[in-house]
Amino acid sequence: MDYIEFLGTGGTRTPVQGTTCLRVSPRCVIDAGNLINAFGDEIFTIEHIFLTHSHLDHIIDIPFLADLFVTRKSTSLKIYGLQATLDDLRQCIFNHRIWPNFEEIQLIGHSEQTIQLIEIQPEERYDIDGITLIPFKTDHTDGSCGYLIEKGGGGILFTADTYRCSRIWELLDTKPHIHSLVIEVSFPSSFEKLAHDSKHLTPALLESELACCGRNDFSVYVMHLKVLFAATITHELAMGNLLKNGGAILADHDRIAFVKQG
Ligand SMILES: [Zn+2]
Ligand SMILES: [Zn+2]
Repeated sequence: MDYIEFLGTGGTRTPVQGTTCLRVSPRCVIDAGNLINAFGDEIFTIEHIFLTHSHLDHIIDIPFLADLFVTRKSTSLKIYGLQATLDDLRQCIFNHRIWPNFEEIQLIGHSEQTIQLIEIQPEERYDIDGITLIPFKTDHTDGSCGYLIEKGGGGILFTADTYRCSRIWELLDTKPHIHSLVIEVSFPSSFEKLAHDSKHLTPALLESELACCGRNDFSVYVMHLKVLFAATITHELAMGNLLKNGGAILADHDRIAFVKQG
């Protein structure tokens, strides 16, 4: 794959839109907001899930995936995240109360456990299927991160959920091979306090953040709009001319291709 494909782009789950989920290779995804609907019969091809954080809209399909995989797969489903994100999964989901502890349950007829939770470190490189994923810390939850996604000399920076975050702009300023930024905007600009308290962005916050960046040559894509405010956010992004260099508000099934730089 010379592109990433967005399987879920909403900040709200609706009958026609999933929550955050993107495919970076045939068997590797980032976040699990919309895997089961998007993959359909191909669901058993998934082997690696890199998480940005533990909020429900980003992990919702993982318990159901474990439930499907336990009688069908021969190798563990590998789930990667920063320590606090994995702690949340263990304490709040796979705790034998909300859902069985699939970290302890073996695949039927095989020696491996159904899921493996694997800790990753910020700023380290993780190579899978010719793609490199580099997590970087964001300002959203304790264990939240975005990912720099690299392939073939091109880079796509995916922030996932975040409030203001200087590391995004440092990465863009120092890595000219990043040609596309995928960033969240959840609320209209009038909801600045709610955005601050829930650690999300508005169009006005995005505009002031973009001013922190020395570059102006990358495309800006936006996702994670809360559906009740989608029309207002869309209007404000257009008025501020924030979807720069051919960027757009992303919809489920949209793709962004890697573009070799230099
Ligand atoms: Zn979140
Ligand atoms: Zn979210």
